[in-house]
Amino acid sequence: MLIAGHLYPDLLNLYGDRGNLIAYSRRCLWRRIPVSVREIPLGEPVDFRELDFLFIGGGSDREQGILAEDLQRRRDNLKAAIEDGLVVLAICGGYQVLGHYYQLTEDKVIPGLRLLDFYTRAGAKRLIGNCAVELELDGRPVRVTGFENHSGQTFLGQVKPLGRVLAGYGNNGADGLEGARYRNVFCSYLHGPLLPKNPRLTDHLISLALRRRGQNPFLTPLDDRLEEQACTAVLNRLKVR
Ligand code: GLN
Repeated sequence: MLIAGHLYPDLLNLYGDRGNLIAYSRRCLWRRIPVSVREIPLGEPVDFRELDFLFIGGGSDREQGILAEDLQRRRDNLKAAIEDGLVVLAICGGYQVLGHYYQLTEDKVIPGLRLLDFYTRAGAKRLIGNCAVELELDGRPVRVTGFENHSGQTFLGQVKPLGRVLAGYGNNGADGLEGARYRNVFCSYLHGPLLPKNPRLTDHLISLALRRRGQNPFLTPLDDRLEEQACTAVLNRLKVR
């Protein structure tokens, strides 16, 4: 049984981000891997080490401010779980909270968890549109597509990016990098939601969780033609060859 946690499902759920958990669960169930989804709202106690997958979605700046205090109380436990190999997918606002801080204006800062080495500051223009990214999974290049909409611009320190921008803005529209990756933590600006459109990434996250629990990580292939068509259509629209 895999346990998937959804952190702040009511506050962090922009642009159908919940669909990431639906895709994750469905692709488990289609292979007869039992999975249960646990919602973790504000104040709800949880030991992150007991989870197999943690999803943190995107939110508005206001919502990120509301949950900042609750999140800080969970920091040490989340850090321990991440070091233990917890698989995490953090999207946009959920990505930003894992870094050092999010600078909204000259004198307004939302402190981050300082779990990954990056910071975010609001830019003058929102970065909006379809986005294509090339990343590497198990040493092989994989193209993923999604939709981004953020005013925060993220700058990485000593942490790897998730991938390279093929079209769109990514972390900040300037350095060609998208997202961040540390141990089994995958951060991205891509909504869409990301996982339904990009089944290879979804399966990679499932495999990592199974491997961490000493279970068989090799997944039965599924018919992904529909998903591949959807992804190719976006790549074509973005003129990515
Ligand atoms: N509030 C953040 C920003 O605008 C995150 C937005 C989001 O999750 N789409 O940068």
